[in-house]
Amino acid sequence: MKACVLVSPAPVESNPLRIVELPKPKPAAGQVLVRVHACGVCRTDLHVVEGELPPRKSPIVPGHQVVGIVEENGAHASRFQPGARVGIPWLHQTCGACEYCRSARENLCERAVFTGWMVDGGYAEYVVAPEDFVYALPEGASDLHVAPLLCAGIIGFRTLRLSGVRPGGRLAMYGFGAAAHVAIQVARHWNIGVYAISRDPRHQKLALDLGAVWAGGSDDEPPQKVDAAMIFAPAGELVAPALRALKRGGTVAIGGIHMSPIPPLDYSLLYHERAIRSVANNTRQDGEDFLRIAAEIPIHTEVREFALEQANEALNALKNDAIRGAAVLRI
Ligand SMILES: [Zn+2]
Ligand SMILES: [Zn+2]
Repeated sequence: MKACVLVSPAPVESNPLRIVELPKPKPAAGQVLVRVHACGVCRTDLHVVEGELPPRKSPIVPGHQVVGIVEENGAHASRFQPGARVGIPWLHQTCGACEYCRSARENLCERAVFTGWMVDGGYAEYVVAPEDFVYALPEGASDLHVAPLLCAGIIGFRTLRLSGVRPGGRLAMYGFGAAAHVAIQVARHWNIGVYAISRDPRHQKLALDLGAVWAGGSDDEPPQKVDAAMIFAPAGELVAPALRALKRGGTVAIGGIHMSPIPPLDYSLLYHERAIRSVANNTRQDGEDFLRIAAEIPIHTEVREFALEQANEALNALKNDAIRGAAVLRI
């Protein structure tokens, strides 16, 4: 099969992904073999390719927002019929036995395995995954438009939940890429007023198009104090402005897996019970809940399509904020 692999991390400007021929994977017991139709390009892929996430497998096929069709079941796998449309997310597998797995916090599993970092992902024609960690996808939206829901969407949704913002409240979003452009649609559905902060005017425009009450640049402060803030840009210098925008008792929820160092903070920014929290991965329940809400609203994703051979180009565009919405590889 055709696959796009990374041998060792390097700046994306050097186009480190290579198209190669790999053997078609065989589904092990409990796994499904999926023929990939589309794979979303996530900022985490950029962190894998550039080495902010240390290599865990080499070479590795990145990609963890996979939409495709079940082609074959491994032994004892029977949840899906061949031909079923499914989604494969970042959370490839958890141990099921640790204290986190046993307390509905499998996103924190100490032995979790992640797609496209520790095992091969969806920048390829085929991928395998445990059937228990694969999502059934309803009919409706196209493969290309569904792909960004599988990480940007689910993580944005968990970030929204952990921010503690309530229906009717006010929410600031720092960074307006794939995750934010989905999360704003859930927030608007809950009648939450969204204030979008992005250094890129094109992303500010997208936020306003999607119903933000206000959009500004990284030096701007939202015109009203907000109940919660979410940071999707991997920039530690956004933490202080996000805290400054908060009402007393509000939370800054950080949605990314990597962030540049957070500069020293004046304690007065945090005082009055403001909180900073990270968001790590997601549980399968988050995914099921989000996909149900996404179908109800329904959420529409803005996508820019790339061919598998253009994976380097897609990552470069993502790094340069040049994607309106989400980048997706058609495979
Ligand atoms: Zn566990
Ligand atoms: Zn992701």
